[in-house]
Amino acid sequence: MKKIEHYLEKKLAKGGLRIGQVQAVADGAEFLVFHSEDAGFFPQGSEGLNRNNLLVLRELSELREAVLRAACGDFRPLKYAPDLVGGWVFIAEGIGGLRMALETIYPAAVGLWLAWAAGELVPCSWREVLVRQTGMFRGLAKISDGVAASFFGEVCEKKGGCLREVLWGMDAGAKAGVGVTESLQEREKEGEIPLVCFEACNFLLSLAARRCAEGGEKE
Ligand code: SF4
Repeated sequence: MKKIEHYLEKKLAKGGLRIGQVQAVADGAEFLVFHSEDAGFFPQGSEGLNRNNLLVLRELSELREAVLRAACGDFRPLKYAPDLVGGWVFIAEGIGGLRMALETIYPAAVGLWLAWAAGELVPCSWREVLVRQTGMFRGLAKISDGVAASFFGEVCEKKGGCLREVLWGMDAGAKAGVGVTESLQEREKEGEIPLVCFEACNFLLSLAARRCAEGGEKE
């Protein structure tokens, strides 16, 4: 936890940080977290933020509620989808409060980024994830690579439904695409904490299982 907090402090000392659709800045002894759409271009501290127009949140339970639903009112099944609704500012007391706020919006994201940047995490391929599945996901092993790739395109690509950068491939030993590592490092230098994906998530597996059940697993 201390490692994450120390990292956040370093980012904030440079003017602020951006992660997914939100930004965070220091404001005196407090830290503000808000939707990028409510603050203009990054980084500009809290200057672009008009608190009078925003719902001020101080409790994590309030923040949890604010990020629970998309604009249409539907539950957001994927916390990394680009459908976060703004209109609020969360005020965190202390760096620990900021860490918890980011954890609420993007669970485990900062820790995963740090672990990957330090070379401590190896992505797990689609096939490796399938091998350890039981229950409703066990039948996914029969999906062809072509069909699986079409799921990834639909769900994981940025223009589709997820902000995370996919670092895993179809088979064991697969590596992130050419230039992905450099691009992530560059984004990090510019103030962002990139959202990275190490293995197929339950949201993707559920979609694949549903497609299988509907008979769409054949090419
Ligand atoms: S597998 Fe990763 S990139 Fe794809 S939807 Fe899930 S979290 Fe996002």
